Amino acid sequence: MTFPKKTESNQRTVSRAGRGQVPDFTFPIGNESVILPAHYRIKGINYLIFNLLMENQGRTELSSLGEFGIINRIASKTEKYQESTRTGIGDDAAVLAYPAGEEVLVSTDLLAEGVHFDLSYTPLHLLGYKAVAVNLSDIAAMNAVPRQILVSLALSNRFSMEAIEALYDGIRQACKEYHVDLAGGDTTSSQSGLVLSVTALGTQKPDLIVNRSGARVGDLICVSGDLGSAYMGLQILRREKKVFEADPDMQPEISDEQAYLLQRQLKPEARTDIVYELAEKNILPNSMIDVSDGLASELFHLCSKSGVGVQIFEDKIPVENLTKLAASDFGLSPLTCALNGGEDYELLFTVPLSEFDKVAKMPDVSIIGVVKNADYGKKLVLKSGQETELKAQGWVHF
Ligand code: ADP
Ligand code: MG
Repeated sequence: MTFPKKTESNQRTVSRAGRGQVPDFTFPIGNESVILPAHYRIKGINYLIFNLLMENQGRTELSSLGEFGIINRIASKTEKYQESTRTGIGDDAAVLAYPAGEEVLVSTDLLAEGVHFDLSYTPLHLLGYKAVAVNLSDIAAMNAVPRQILVSLALSNRFSMEAIEALYDGIRQACKEYHVDLAGGDTTSSQSGLVLSVTALGTQKPDLIVNRSGARVGDLICVSGDLGSAYMGLQILRREKKVFEADPDMQPEISDEQAYLLQRQLKPEARTDIVYELAEKNILPNSMIDVSDGLASELFHLCSKSGVGVQIFEDKIPVENLTKLAASDFGLSPLTCALNGGEDYELLFTVPLSEFDKVAKMPDVSIIGVVKNADYGKKLVLKSGQETELKAQGWVHF
């Protein structure tokens, strides 16, 4: 084990506690509490959840159950929320019956261990929850209503049935909260890591579906929630991991404030509530996209698909104070975190200027700029009044 260099980002006061008598440290993730150190205490940093389940709760080997045994366990606890699911898990294919006049929206995401998630600080049930939420976010970004999900898994024998149950607890919790059905999936083995693929299905009347391509010059640019917090949550988790790797006696120190940032990273929500609120207020956005790769990158997508430019105002971009504080701790600019951080899963949409009064009254929506013509380009007006070029970095996956 190499000791990481003390950098600005991992330099902090840590309380030292003797092994074996470290108090459980809980922090809230949404409505639930997650006990981090219990995971952190067990045998080193890798696959803590897996180790926890193996050592503390017994371990049922996947090989003892076989593929059908695993699927039966998954299927046995599955509830149904959607009228449209005629046949769910258990047949060769799911049968879905949608209301006449609605179109079907399908979106899929593949998550690979080590690339998209790190099990050393991601409790499996939250991984399950997040995998569902981020897919539903794509359906919401089309102004559609999510109805079903399919979940496919590649598992190595490193995982126990208890680990899979934890993953599905989170998947089921998300299904319950968003009223979607787990209608099927596939299960296979993997040589090493966990691979998880979620496909989401939704429906909407054709004239209510909102694309990235519909932004018009003069539209107001709006975004829900706050930006940059999930990115700061990730920085904190990575720092805690480094500190722990350097010294397993070091317990994570997560303040109540930081817990919000961790929640944004570990348990993001799909903003289906914004879709309902827009419908309730009779607002149909001209264009919409969800913020998965950072505000700047999503604005670039809207511009290229719609053939327009944008003018964004720094002082209108919603950044929580907690995010600003954490950013300054890490020597990062809060603006950069909001523009390029990513994983916010907020909705970015444009509405005609005539809707100003209505969107201005939406409590969790900020108006951050206006759509310009393509020749204007993409500009960010700083707090100082200076206009600068907007740059998109986004996430680099390869
Ligand atoms: P097939 O051999 O026809 O592909 P499977 O045995 O893989 O069928 O699947 C049986 C049933 O279990 C199907 O309804 C399938 O959708 C469902 N299923 C399989 N794996 C999963 C999973 N990981 N999550 C949810 N449903 C699953
Ligand atoms: Mg199959």
